[in-house]
Amino acid sequence: MTTTLAYAAQNATSPLAPFNIERRAPGADDVQIDILYCGVCHSDLHTARNEWKNTLYPSVPGHEIVGRVTAVGTNVSKFKLGDIAGVGCMVDSCQHCASCGDGLEQYCENGFTGTYNGPVFGGENTFGGYASRIVVKQKFVLKIRHAESDLAAVAPLLCAGITTYSPLRQWGVEKGHKVGIVGLGGLGHMGVKIAAAMGAQVVLFTTSANKAEDAKRMGASDVVLSTDPQAMAAHQNSFDFILNTVAAQHDLDPFIALLKRDCTMTLVGAPEHSHPAPNVFGLIFKRRRLGGSLIGGIRETQEMLDFCAEHGIVSDIEIIAMKEINTAYERMLRSDVKYRFVIDMATLS
Ligand code: NAP
Ligand code: ZN
Repeated sequence: MTTTLAYAAQNATSPLAPFNIERRAPGADDVQIDILYCGVCHSDLHTARNEWKNTLYPSVPGHEIVGRVTAVGTNVSKFKLGDIAGVGCMVDSCQHCASCGDGLEQYCENGFTGTYNGPVFGGENTFGGYASRIVVKQKFVLKIRHAESDLAAVAPLLCAGITTYSPLRQWGVEKGHKVGIVGLGGLGHMGVKIAAAMGAQVVLFTTSANKAEDAKRMGASDVVLSTDPQAMAAHQNSFDFILNTVAAQHDLDPFIALLKRDCTMTLVGAPEHSHPAPNVFGLIFKRRRLGGSLIGGIRETQEMLDFCAEHGIVSDIEIIAMKEINTAYERMLRSDVKYRFVIDMATLS
């Protein structure tokens, strides 16, 4: 065991503050990583504040981790000392159910182990990336092929990147498709970049008029203010796919009305309070579908990282010091982040 400095929430209302945790000594299959950067996901905030009513305290969030390998177990062949490595939202799963067999550990029928907040279905708590070090099974550690100078901006790919890449692939987005991305936050801005790299015609739906220029620079061909009914109506029945990343409860019907016949809007945003049920006629008259998607499996996460390295895709980030995390959460709630906060872990010591 090594005592490791981290930042934790002790309950739903107290700010995050320094806290010592124990990391296990690396076992035969483990990779020990000294964390360089950790992205700040809205899920970290939902968890720290117990908005999903399942938080185990103390809670150390953080699941967009990049760092340097500082020890490996005897069975580890994928990594050696000094390598750059990534860790996303999962650190284990049962490895024998049908979903694990399909490389979809995020849908493990026995419950995957989250990088933080532990096994969803019981067991010990786990502590995430707001820490100077983490020890993870080799199987759940990702290879980073981007240049080392891009590392801070690569960290958000480990959650925001895969959470948008996976549904874009699953719903068959390809060249020429008209794809809507709802919300330009951490997830949304990765969705815009990745969908554009897949060849889609991307339209951003936002509540923040001041984000339009940024969205176009990231690859959107059009930006629609979702609070303007006329602008929304101009796009009715025209989308092949819509990815909704919004972190707050809202009316889904105006977006469902934008889908072509037989097309789908997939939800990845996971707000504290669920959206009102959609109007059934909006779905049945055009055989439209409403879907959901959770992060992505380990194999697909590696595929996404390689895709992003090949297409020169990284996140737009604002680097913060660890002690600025509580202010960063407040700014995230005001949609005031361009477009992902990333903690420089050197500021933790
Ligand atoms: P974020 O950076 O805070 O972005 C969320 C965006 O939603 C905001 O930038 C804003 O975009 C829009 N928004 C916020 N409040 C809104 C409101 N009241 N009405 C309409 N739009 C609003 O959050 P994130 O890190 O991207 O995460 C987004 C959501 O996805 C969170 O709920 C998070 O927990 C969830 N998530 C899910 C998965 C999964 O596997 N499914 C994985 C990671 C995260 P505009 O300013 O452009 O309107
Ligand atoms: Zn996340």
